[in-house]
Order: sequence, then C-alpha cells, then structure tokens
Amino acid sequence: MANALYDALFGPHQQNQARYIGASADNGLSYQQFLQMASKFAGALVASGLQPGDRVAVQVNKSIEALALYTGCVQCGCVFLPLNTAYTAREVSYFVGDAEPGLLVCDASAEASLQEALASAACQISTLNADGSGRLTDTAAGQNDTFTPVPRAATDLAAILYTSGTTGRSKGAMLTHANLLSNAETLVDYWQFTEQDTLLHALPIYHTHGLFVACNTIALAGASMIFQPSFKLDDVIDQMPHATTMMGVPTFYTRLLGDKRFSKELTSHMRLFISGSAPLLAETHDAFAARTGHKILERYGMTETNMNTSNPYDGDRRAGTVGFALPGVEVKICNPETGEDLPDNTIGMLQVRGPNVFSGYWRMPEKTAEELLESGFFITGDLAKIDSHGYVHIVGRDKDLIISGGFNIYPKELELLLDEQEGVLESAVIGAPHSDFGEGVVAVLVARQDAIVDTDRIAGNLADSIARFKQPKKYVVVPELPRNAMGKVQKNVLREQYASAFE
Ligand code: AMP
Repeated sequence: MANALYDALFGPHQQNQARYIGASADNGLSYQQFLQMASKFAGALVASGLQPGDRVAVQVNKSIEALALYTGCVQCGCVFLPLNTAYTAREVSYFVGDAEPGLLVCDASAEASLQEALASAACQISTLNADGSGRLTDTAAGQNDTFTPVPRAATDLAAILYTSGTTGRSKGAMLTHANLLSNAETLVDYWQFTEQDTLLHALPIYHTHGLFVACNTIALAGASMIFQPSFKLDDVIDQMPHATTMMGVPTFYTRLLGDKRFSKELTSHMRLFISGSAPLLAETHDAFAARTGHKILERYGMTETNMNTSNPYDGDRRAGTVGFALPGVEVKICNPETGEDLPDNTIGMLQVRGPNVFSGYWRMPEKTAEELLESGFFITGDLAKIDSHGYVHIVGRDKDLIISGGFNIYPKELELLLDEQEGVLESAVIGAPHSDFGEGVVAVLVARQDAIVDTDRIAGNLADSIARFKQPKKYVVVPELPRNAMGKVQKNVLREQYASAFE
C-alpha cells in the first residue's frame, strides 16, 4: 500500500521541476523547495507525537507554510482540518471538542484566547503566523527535509472540513484520500491543466475551493501558482500578466469588472477563468465576455462532494448554468419528498453519486444516513433542474425555498426577473413569517451606481409577468447584500433582518 494521493500530487515526477509556488511570479519556491518544507512539517507532526489518523486543526492565515503543512499532513497520514480564520475562540472550541485533534495550529495572536477556551481539551497548541514564523516552524526547522510518505488506503481520511452550519450544528465532512485524488484527476483533465499553466490563487485555503480545487489540481498537473495572501484588486491586476488561469468566486469577477485597468489587453494571454462557490450572475458572465472576450467557465460543487458539474472546456459555456456532470459523477433530480426521479426541466432536489462524494459526517451517523443514501447518492440540499440539453441549473438551497399560502416559490426565479429591472444591480428574495400566508415574499434589491430603483414600477412589471402568489409583498433597497468570504449571499442574515417585515 502506498500513499496514492501524495505520490500523484508530489511524487518523484515533481522532484526535478523548476515550477514555482509564490506570492508573485518572481519570488517563488520550486516544487523541490516546497516539498522539503512539507517534509519538515511532516517531521514536526511526528515529533509532536501525532499518529496517522490523528486530526490536525489549523486556524491560520494563508501562507505557503500553511499549504506545506497540509501537504505534510498528507505525507504523514494525519487528517487536515482547516478552520475559517473568522471563527472566534468559542467556535473553535466546538470544533476541537467535536473532532478531538491531537494538535491545534493557530496564529500567535490568537493563542492566549484559544488556550483559555480550550482549557479542558487534551489538545496541544502550536503556532504558525502569516509570515511563516511560529513554534511549529521552529520545530520543523530541526527536522529532515525528506519524509517517506506513510502508506494510506483509498478510504483513509485526508481531511475533515466543517460545513458553514447556517442551519443547526456545523458538520465535519470526512474526505478520503480517494475523494481528493479522483476529483483532482478529473479536473486536470476536464479543464486541461498542464505544466505550462500558472494559476492566480487569491482564494482562502480553509475552504474546498482554494485548497482542493485549486491546489490539488495545480500540483497534479505540475503547474505553477501565484499564491496571494488574499484577494486584493491591485495585486491581482499586477500579477495577471504572469498567470494563465484564475479560479475565483463571483465577487472576484465583479470586482475586476469594476476596475478600468481590467481590460482585453490585460487578459488576452489568459487561457481560462473559472468561477464557483456561489452563483455567477448571467449578467456578470456576459459583461466579462464583452470586456475580455473570455467566457467564464462556471462549475458547481460543495464541501461534501468536491466538484460535481462543470461547463465544458471546449463546448458552449452557458451563462446561468453549471454545466454537465463531470466524468465519473452522476447527478439526478428527485422529488424532495419521495426521492423519485423527476424528468428534465423539472425543479427538484439534486442528488449526486461518484468517487468524489465524501464518506459521511464525522461522528454523526444519523445525519450521514439521512443525507448519504445506501444507493451512494448524496442529497445535496440544492434545488436544481436539468434542461433538455443536459445543462444543470442551480435554483437555490432547499432551505431557501419559500412556501406562501401552500405554494412553493423558488427565489431564483424571482431574482432573475428582478435583476433585469431598471436600476437593479442584484437582488435576493427571502420568505418572512406572514400571519395569513405562512410566509410572504420579501425582495431585497441593490441599486446600480447612481441609479434610482422605483419599486412601485417593478411591482407593476412583475404583476404582468408572474403569478400573484409569487409576487413580493415587500420591497427593500439596500446598499449591498450580506456575503460570506466565499461570496455566498447570507440569506439567513437577511431572514433575521426582515423577520418582522409583515408584523
Ligand atoms: P460549500 O460547501 O461552502 O462549498 O457550499 C456549497 C454550496 O454552494 C452548494 O451546495 C451550492 O448551494 C453553492 N454553490 C457552489 N457552486 C455554485 C454555483 N456555481 N452556482 C450556484 N451555487 C453554487
């Protein structure tokens, strides 16, 4: 038994390559230097007494050292458990209590409060700072710069990623070595990554998008990466000439479009722009194509499943869709209540099956059994339809569905209409408790710069085009929509904000 994930990503074929990983095109590390760093971290974990299968919780800023720590975990068989840097000490103590990691790695500035919050947990704490310094780095400095990868079975865990937990407790999605490897292989192939590529990486690495989709794909292809600490418009524009590809959340692309320096000339050498983690507005897709000549390739995935669908590399990339099931992945649309398969063009629950699908929620067998069916299909919680050409359209999260007077209302249908109205930049539609109807529709609108949104006129337009029960009973105009770090609109925040809209 070998360590197939490590061998594929960083095996002997990488050792002699001069490809780089760095914050800019001229200050990078070669793969060989990176692997020496990773090996030293693997050595540091072993020296700290960690065994294969032990969890390593990591709440640190993005740095090459943090990525090397992930790689070191893969090498020594530990389970990497990245945590959003925004979590408070209280939240981290929940994850530590649940996952029982052998080690928590944090920024030195957070150590005292974490120590206090974790007083009762039997978990060591070490530090790794944004500049790569820290106690763990000091321990690593004394280790060998080679490390023989610990053999791992396909079903052994490589990582646990906690879901954002907007409803109920956050759940730890268990991802195996085979899950990560199969998805990386599929994506390299489908998106045609080669050694010639350089990815402009500005995503966080505590999330599946920036960590697995981006870094595993690049490593497997033996490509290069410009690894920026976060998305900063000036830096991304500065580094774009050195990149060939970019992966981003939709907000990256809207921010780029908002800057005049982002032009056809700046992007003419680029091979591919990929978007995911939240819906890309068709309007953004079109504006991007008009400005740069590039059609953004939108794909769809989630923490539990890695990537499921993608628009084609060579074929027609359709705005407002997430493309087709990836090779080896099956998707189907089912009746949310009965689980029965539904025909094309019918909205229902999207289910997915394939080697990419996780092995369950950490220590939650009942939750796992509810969502991961015996047939191998996972109930994603996303409402979607597959059109007659096979393109998947995500309509929204199941929990965002509005039921008004007994009728189902899909927010996305209304949002698409609202986005087309004069003066409207974007919209979010939610349900708020209503004494007569159970829920009433609230339309939250953001105006375009310098535009005035006439909500009476919009209400009039909608009255002509959609059934009465779907029409918003209240309109509000706000400066911007609440979004999380991955660019997802936080509908739970809006629901709280407008909970008494109809009182
Ligand atoms: P996460 O587990 O944080 O990656 O969130 C996964 C969820 O993000 C999915 O279940 C979808 O609801 C949403 N999502 C991801 N990619 C897309 C996309 N391209 N379009 C629409 N929603 C998406």
